[in-house]
Amino acid sequence: MRLNIHGLIDNAKCYHMVRQLRWADGVECPHCHATEVVKNGSDETQSDRQRYLCRLCNRSFDDLSRRKSFINHRENKNKTQLIQGRGD
Ligand SMILES: [Zn+2]
Repeated sequence: MRLNIHGLIDNAKCYHMVRQLRWADGVECPHCHATEVVKNGSDETQSDRQRYLCRLCNRSFDDLSRRKSFINHRENKNKTQLIQGRGD
């Protein structure tokens, strides 16, 4: 029986590195940017992926959650460019 231990170690190291880079100044909520967050278990399929719960807005996120405001801003910008392109 072969166990893929290298894969598990790499995954753990990977998330550890992500946390060090992303939360260098402390964990921040991607929804409301509050720093009042607590650890909230780990991802169901990826046990090394830490989940967090924001004490301010009560929403959960994890190591790889994106900043929603940033995504919306980019999407809106693309839509504006499309509309402007059609108008010409
Ligand atoms: Zn929040």
